[in-house]
Amino acid sequence: MNTVTRPRILVVGAGFAGVECVRRLERKLSPDEADVTLVTPFAYQLYLPLLPQVASGVLTPQSIAVSLRRSKKYRTRIIPGGAIGVDLKSKVCVIRTITDQIVNEPYDYIVLAPGSITRTFDIPGLTEHAFGMKTLAEAAYVRDHVISQLDLADASQDPAERASRLQFVVVGGGYAGTETAACLQRLTHAAVKRYPRLDPGLIKWHLIDIAPKLMPELGEKLGSSAQEILRRRGIEISLGVSIAKAGPEEVTFTDGRVIPTRTLIWTAGVVASPLIATLGAETVKGRLVVAPEMNLPGDDGVFALGDSAAVPDLAKGDDSAMCPPTAQHALRQGKHVADNVIATLRGQARKPYVHKDLGLVVDLGGTDAVSKPLGIELRGLPAQAVARGYHWSALRTNVAKTRVMTNWLLNAVAGDDFVRTGFQARKAARLKDFEYTDAYLTPEQVRAHVEGTARQE
Ligand SMILES: Cc1cc2nc3c(=O)[nH]c(=O)nc-3n(C[C@H](O)[C@H](O)[C@H](O)COP(=O)(O)OP(=O)(O)OC[C@H]3O[C@@H](n4cnc5c(N)ncnc54)[C@H](O)[C@@H]3O)c2cc1C
Repeated sequence: MNTVTRPRILVVGAGFAGVECVRRLERKLSPDEADVTLVTPFAYQLYLPLLPQVASGVLTPQSIAVSLRRSKKYRTRIIPGGAIGVDLKSKVCVIRTITDQIVNEPYDYIVLAPGSITRTFDIPGLTEHAFGMKTLAEAAYVRDHVISQLDLADASQDPAERASRLQFVVVGGGYAGTETAACLQRLTHAAVKRYPRLDPGLIKWHLIDIAPKLMPELGEKLGSSAQEILRRRGIEISLGVSIAKAGPEEVTFTDGRVIPTRTLIWTAGVVASPLIATLGAETVKGRLVVAPEMNLPGDDGVFALGDSAAVPDLAKGDDSAMCPPTAQHALRQGKHVADNVIATLRGQARKPYVHKDLGLVVDLGGTDAVSKPLGIELRGLPAQAVARGYHWSALRTNVAKTRVMTNWLLNAVAGDDFVRTGFQARKAARLKDFEYTDAYLTPEQVRAHVEGTARQE
């Protein structure tokens, strides 16, 4: 017999926002006050800003996968799976577990923090032929893929094949794309010493963006510095340009250029997790509309935050501004939403979320970096120290900090071995295979599923 009468808090997503929220709930709520459950497909919190360093081999994948089970103090029940729909009316979350079972999880309070997925457009061939840079599997896969291009080009006698394997295209001039292009260019640049048959002149990286500037958040001077660093390193930057179509062996730019390449990395923005659409509630650009207290307007039991929610950015002083999708906001919102859930539970007043942006750090690999902490513009080594110091201190556990620091030191001293692990399947996996975007139900399917299972009980 179920004798539990404590309120049930369900947190969806173990990213920056979800994990901060859960940890705060565990610390501030006594075990008798509420049961806390976390739904997550993976057993770790991914430190996404360091993904380009995994792709380039500076860090091992494990070092940025921060364990959810490090401490015995943690008492949250973890359901290994992904939420595929939420029925707000009956307060049930539908979950597909990692063994493909569909289960219903009832809740009294739900905190939605499933983050975002790569934003794609209706460009022929894009989802079939591009890689993203959003999951650990993608970063490890891209690394293997890039090294395999060097291996295959080295073995080939065909000049056309060699040329196409040695050109690489990254789309997206935000920090994710810029860091990815910069870090991977360092990888191929350093690798050529180990491939004496390869002509280094054939290796070419393209970074393109439809916008007129790279990382406009950096401002005019710092943005130009970043471009200058990349150009000096031989990365060809094309602005005002996107992809017209993508194929297995070539990519056509919107300015008409056809680039022979087998590597297209697409990092042109993010869009909220498809889970949000299953609620059938109001959204802005796919993000769930929430009050400044991060609850659904008019609903005290539903909260959303991070990349998946349109949280008003009160610090901007502009009514229509919403917080940008950054880790900086997500983890602060995680703490804040936990406090607001607790306040609701205890019948107290919720507080609006306010945070003034602390700036941006961009690690371009080696000693190259640009950073703008608190509006101060930094370049080179000081910028790199700030970038790495910031990320290092933001890692949640001491074990993760030690792994990252050890990897940085080892890489600085010994470099990379350019090992292709061979985990790469024979059939290439691309954007459409990594983010499980087809797993979700429609609002009608969620409703029908929940009503159907209720009838059977
Ligand atoms: C390459 C790259 C570099 C970046 N660099 C920076 C940077 O330098 N600074 C910065 O501030 N931000 C940076 N960001 C952005 C930052 O990582 C995100 O804004 C941040 O991760 C958002 O936090 P979140 O908790 O909302 O989502 P996430 O951290 O993405 O977490 C979402 C979690 O939910 C899980 N999930 C997804 N769907 C479901 C589901 N249906 N059910 C259950 N769980 C689900 C995911 O597996 C994940 O664990 C970068 C992002 C990328 C990709």
